[in-house]
Amino acid sequence: MIPISYWRNRRSYTALMGSRCRACGAEYFPPVRVCRKCKSRDIEAREMPRKGTLITYTKLTEPAEEFGKQTPVYLGLIELSNGVKLVSTLADVSESELNEGAPVSMVIRRWTEEGPSGIIYYGYKFKVDAAYSMS
Ligand SMILES: [Zn+2]
Repeated sequence: MIPISYWRNRRSYTALMGSRCRACGAEYFPPVRVCRKCKSRDIEAREMPRKGTLITYTKLTEPAEEFGKQTPVYLGLIELSNGVKLVSTLADVSESELNEGAPVSMVIRRWTEEGPSGIIYYGYKFKVDAAYSMS
């Protein structure tokens, strides 16, 4: 049986939930409790856009254990369409597509698992848009 809290919170499981300052409009991901620009505590939850552009990336050939068996791991610095920047694992990577300014979109993918029969964790990753890949 799936607990009620799952259904109540399900949007936050598949969305990038950040925050927005009601006083000055600044947006943050991950969410903050105090606005870094104006120090206001009047903060609301705000879903971040799922689209952005790749600024740069790094390739981890010996990633930390929590990345599981995935090797190599690509980490991208991404600027979302609202200007918020974040670091995310990149999915379905073809290195020739990893150019500065490549359009990317958020996808939900397997992050890791606990042991051979353990819990599988899913989370967000970003992937270069198909239209860009074909050009
Ligand atoms: Zn503010």
